[in-house]
Amino acid sequence: MAYEFRSSINKTCCKAAVYPKDHWGSFHPHQCNLKIWKDGWCKIHHPDIEHERHQKREEESKKWLENSPSMKLIRAKERIDKLVGAMLTLADGCEAAEADCKEEVIRSFLGRCADALRNAAKEGGEE
Ligand SMILES: [Zn+2]
Repeated sequence: MAYEFRSSINKTCCKAAVYPKDHWGSFHPHQCNLKIWKDGWCKIHHPDIEHERHQKREEESKKWLENSPSMKLIRAKERIDKLVGAMLTLADGCEAAEADCKEEVIRSFLGRCADALRNAAKEGGEE
């Protein structure tokens, strides 16, 4: 957010206070010397434009973060946790099964594990 330049303002220029990058002036604000675009601000310092720029930058950094290796790792870990959780639930059911239907239960357990693995592999391959 640009600050308004307060002292001896030139009404034909943008009212933003800017800090020149040169060595000595860096702590002394100057008035922006660009011409007024709207509401006394130039196209760079108008609050609407600054807000828009800020949003855009935030979106870009969000996108960047989502595609970053650490986020991919986090998502992969989430998938693995889900998978392990599902398998443990199945394994519990398998253990609790009656002796005479155990083989059937184990077979279906293995089938569902294979499905879960296939699905996980598919999800992981989307990126
Ligand atoms: Zn300006």
